Amino acid sequence: MVVVMGIDDSLAIKRQVTKYLHVLDVKEKVHLSVCFTEVLPTYVEGMTLCLNTSESEPYKIIRVRINAHLEPIQRTLVLAHEMIHVRQFARGELRVNSKHKVIWKGKTFWTVGGSRTASPWEDEAYQISKFIVKQNPIASKASLASAGKHR
Ligand SMILES: [Zn+2]
Repeated sequence: MVVVMGIDDSLAIKRQVTKYLHVLDVKEKVHLSVCFTEVLPTYVEGMTLCLNTSESEPYKIIRVRINAHLEPIQRTLVLAHEMIHVRQFARGELRVNSKHKVIWKGKTFWTVGGSRTASPWEDEAYQISKFIVKQNPIASKASLASAGKHR
């Protein structure tokens, strides 16, 4: 289930999200909401949260927030990046127990602000998003050099 909010062209975004989830082979049950929001600080392009409070729930409830001020091409890149975090949460590879405790493939990390170099889940998201946007003709025109501000 995918719900898109806060953007006029929600159908196109939903199609794009669905395509990415297919390319990424996400088969797990996910209730995914993608919210475009004006209230993120300008330096945060996007973020993904898993809202489940216990492991026993039958599906993952995942919320993606995307900065509403992004240009369409940059938005495509950020969406791809966040969909990789969706996959990480859906598969249970990435879990966040509290604001500063992250469990990645069974290893515990403490992060303050999610520094990119110290976060293997970010490394994976950056690497795979570069790969999947190549398959998307809209995004292939975009420079990947600036794609360093989302978490
Ligand atoms: Zn990220």
